[in-house]
Amino acid sequence: MDKASEPAFEVAIAGGGPVGLMLAIELGRRGVRTLLVNDRPDTSPHPQANATQARTMEHYRRLGFADRIRATGLPPDYPTDICYFTRYARHELARFALPSSRDARVLVRNLGGSWSAAELPHRGSQMFIERVLRGEAAKLPSVNLRYGCRLAGFEQADDGVMLQLDPGGEPVRAQWLVGCDGARSGVRRALGIGWTGETGIRRDFMGGRMMAMHFRSPDLYAVIGRPPAWMYWTFNAGRRSFMAAIDGVDAFVFHTQLRSDEDPEAIDDEALKAMFFETLGARCELSLLSRSSWLAGHVLVAERLREGRVFLAGDAAHLFTPTGGLGYNTGVEDAVNLGWKLAAVLREGAPASLLDSYEAERRPAAIRNTGYARGFADSIGLFVPPEGLEDETSQGEALRRQAGERLLAHAKAEFNIPGITFGTRYDGSPIVARDDEAPPPDRADVYQPSSIPGGRAPHAWLPDGGSLFDRFGFGFTLLELAPDEPAGDAPLAQGMAGLAHLRITPAQARAAGLRDLYPRRFTLIRPDQVVAWRGERLPGDLRRLMFG
Ligand SMILES: Cc1cc2nc3c(=O)[nH]c(=O)nc-3n(C[C@H](O)[C@H](O)[C@H](O)COP(=O)(O)OP(=O)(O)OC[C@H]3O[C@@H](n4cnc5c(N)ncnc54)[C@H](O)[C@@H]3O)c2cc1C
Repeated sequence: MDKASEPAFEVAIAGGGPVGLMLAIELGRRGVRTLLVNDRPDTSPHPQANATQARTMEHYRRLGFADRIRATGLPPDYPTDICYFTRYARHELARFALPSSRDARVLVRNLGGSWSAAELPHRGSQMFIERVLRGEAAKLPSVNLRYGCRLAGFEQADDGVMLQLDPGGEPVRAQWLVGCDGARSGVRRALGIGWTGETGIRRDFMGGRMMAMHFRSPDLYAVIGRPPAWMYWTFNAGRRSFMAAIDGVDAFVFHTQLRSDEDPEAIDDEALKAMFFETLGARCELSLLSRSSWLAGHVLVAERLREGRVFLAGDAAHLFTPTGGLGYNTGVEDAVNLGWKLAAVLREGAPASLLDSYEAERRPAAIRNTGYARGFADSIGLFVPPEGLEDETSQGEALRRQAGERLLAHAKAEFNIPGITFGTRYDGSPIVARDDEAPPPDRADVYQPSSIPGGRAPHAWLPDGGSLFDRFGFGFTLLELAPDEPAGDAPLAQGMAGLAHLRITPAQARAAGLRDLYPRRFTLIRPDQVVAWRGERLPGDLRRLMFG
């Protein structure tokens, strides 16, 4: 392509939800000329996701704004407990206690094993997170954010993609297009890419048409009359529901599944409030902020994540039932994965074949994560509240105790998932080196740190109080553990001689137990903090290990 016809943008992103914004940040931080269009005028005013998983928080830390994310939502001392009730103002059945955001910052420094991490999860609403992400993307000079602008169509050529924008005049050119345009993705449909997996799964709860109500209530905490929680669930013969606390003051979002005899069209605001009061088992002051309807029961992954110069990421590429809180988090990892690869092809002369590894790595990850979410949806959605659960009798009390035990076990399974959040692996990827050791087993509740190529680099706290991850560069990192700790600078300087042109950050570290985590002298860590290779001697062609 000659200079005159050089595209105005290197990457165009359709969709300014969390995934499109995260991709814009990854690209913008690498100086890639990026256009992001979003049809709505602003980020979403609806709460949507409530959980940012620990791995996503580690990515926000890598980008330098984890603390800003953690400061959003609930007050710093607000517990993020998950509570199960018959009705919110009646019997409490079970409570799984989890730390406040202030305690999470301290706690993470003392945890090991499965929870050896730079960050713990943050339980807060997506609408606040999107605002932080938009602010971060807006700071980047090479990123052009256009909210209130729709991708109306596109056409691919060998050397780029022509985009029709609305509003917009002449078509705009970009070298690559990424559809981060959500569940109903027009980009996916225009490419003729269908879904694989299951949809329309029916369960009495978390499998069917759901109604959501975002509201304020100044007296709800008093009406509930229990210590505050982040997530509230109700189980009774009439209606099951869940509710998240949004700001710890007076804002909440309530979700309930419609029964088969309830017509969503016939449910006006008063009827929706009545449903809430039924699950509360009392009345409270309530002003409705917004309402919406959504479908639970998807386990869907797109047939392909790429067609020529166009990629899919986030909900455009996979659709979850939100149990486990994995949809947006899986999408963020798509953006992280694709971001460094596109930048490497555009900026570092990496071969275009590097981009094939996006689908090879992220599609199996989406199948894995949607499968885990489905298991949680079955576990909670198929739990039938027994008859007599609300009776004020000793029999009722015994039923509540049994239900509480069952629900507490479920809570621990759904909300303690280090294996899911840290354990995604890219074994078999064309850019992951083969190793002679077998990777650890995949389990939701257990994460076994391992530097076998293909998984997240193991985390460690260093004697100076810093995180090993903070020593990694923004691009590739070569971590060296010299045979005899302490290492000193000499061996690394030697190892790195002549590698400056590859823009690999050299890192050395000393900490108790680090050699168990990184048993080889050298470990090559990708920009997304995934181990690419490890060995005792640096190979001649490191570039091949980096980009394939
Ligand atoms: C009740 C509920 C609870 C949830 N809880 C969690 C949770 O706790 N954790 C979790 O990880 N996930 C959760 N999710 C899922 C999460 O909300 C989604 O996975 C997430 O929003 C996907 O982000 P995205 O950026 O891919 O798509 P979206 O957020 O849908 O953003 C897509 C954007 O693209 C725009 N767009 C569409 N078409 C065009 C076009 N042609 N041109 C320009 N712009 C366009 C849309 O307007 C939208 O702004 C939950 C979902 C629901 C419904």
